[in-house]
Amino acid sequence: MIAKPVHGQGPDEKGYFGKYGGMYLPPQLEKPFAEIIEAYHRIANDSAFIAELRSIRKTFQGRPTPVYHARTLSLKNGGAHIYLKREDLNHTGAHKINHCMGEGLLAKFMGKKKLIAETGAGQHGVALATAAAYFGLECEIHMGDVDIAKQAPNVTRMKLLGAKVVPVSFGLRTLKEAVDSAFMAYLADYENSIYCIGSVVGPHPFPLMVRDFQKVVGIEAREQFLEMTGQLPEAICACVGGGSNAMGLFTAFLNDPVAIYGVEPLGKGTAVGDHAATMSYGREGIIHGFKCYLLQNDDGSPAPVYSCASGLDYPGVGPEHCHLKDSGRVQYVTCSDDQCKDAFFKLCRSEGIIPAIESAHAVAYALEKAREMKKGSILVNLSGRGDKDMDYVVENWGIGE
Ligand SMILES: *Cc1c(COP(=O)(O)O)cnc(C)c1O
Repeated sequence: MIAKPVHGQGPDEKGYFGKYGGMYLPPQLEKPFAEIIEAYHRIANDSAFIAELRSIRKTFQGRPTPVYHARTLSLKNGGAHIYLKREDLNHTGAHKINHCMGEGLLAKFMGKKKLIAETGAGQHGVALATAAAYFGLECEIHMGDVDIAKQAPNVTRMKLLGAKVVPVSFGLRTLKEAVDSAFMAYLADYENSIYCIGSVVGPHPFPLMVRDFQKVVGIEAREQFLEMTGQLPEAICACVGGGSNAMGLFTAFLNDPVAIYGVEPLGKGTAVGDHAATMSYGREGIIHGFKCYLLQNDDGSPAPVYSCASGLDYPGVGPEHCHLKDSGRVQYVTCSDDQCKDAFFKLCRSEGIIPAIESAHAVAYALEKAREMKKGSILVNLSGRGDKDMDYVVENWGIGE
């Protein structure tokens, strides 16, 4: 018998999924990262760590989150039935808390005193500040001046949670510079602190670690779906920014006969700077310490990107996704701002669920795919709720009349 290929393994010891990933680090950070790798391998098999994380998920985060059959939406749309994995019902309103609590617990086991990270729109900053407060750790969030002005409610949330928000006022004063600033702060204080990456990106072991912390999403969803329907869905999908909520869902289904779709933001169109569809339009490159598909300029620097969803506008993408694209196991598709807007209002009106704009990308693709499939079912990761997006929606889309 010929063995079927087994998907979802790796990375190798150097952090590569196929040719993607790795560790492209300044020499001073090699030792601190080696310590993180060693600590992670230790705690991943430590029963005290696993038991504590399980208890946090249950009593603090509100897991398991349900799988919900969006019956009205499905019937109005026609075709396959749409099911939602309700990550929007997590404490703090999105899947990001899944890996932030894991990273916080790792910091505690390593005896670190401080969590350091950057944030763009503030979602990762808020989730990490929440973890820091829970574990009694200090928290330092680097954020561009431009983003601080745009995202006032999240800045207030981080401060209420006791985090120090460090304004970054060089360069374009947005996410890219915030990453540089956070990295410098970590370099200066790696004895006492740990750098917490907000998706399945960055140098090894973060793509591995964040995936492992997120895979609870897919493990739960697979079991819940089987219990509800007696079978597996024909297809699953999730939006892809860095790719953490998608890896969380996909990992549990990689070796099942299930079609898998990652949905990237096409923004305003295919011109450079109008979208952030990394895997559809990027090519191999290096960003923030790892190799991946990258939207880049001729000189290899990251190209400008755009999406109406601020959680999706990253020019790189997690290395495991790149490998899954090349192997053909996962298909990567796109959704424009307009398709996202349409799905956003449909979900609000037919089901009483206001999704995050990021998550509405996945819903939009599910609606399209469901019509094409005609029957069966498609399971969507609803990565977050839309409360954070109210100002944007009212200003740009109105209230859908
Ligand atoms: C940050 C964010 C995303 C994008 O991040 P991934 O790492 O690609 O999951 C998606 N949805 C929501 C609600 C987010 O906050």
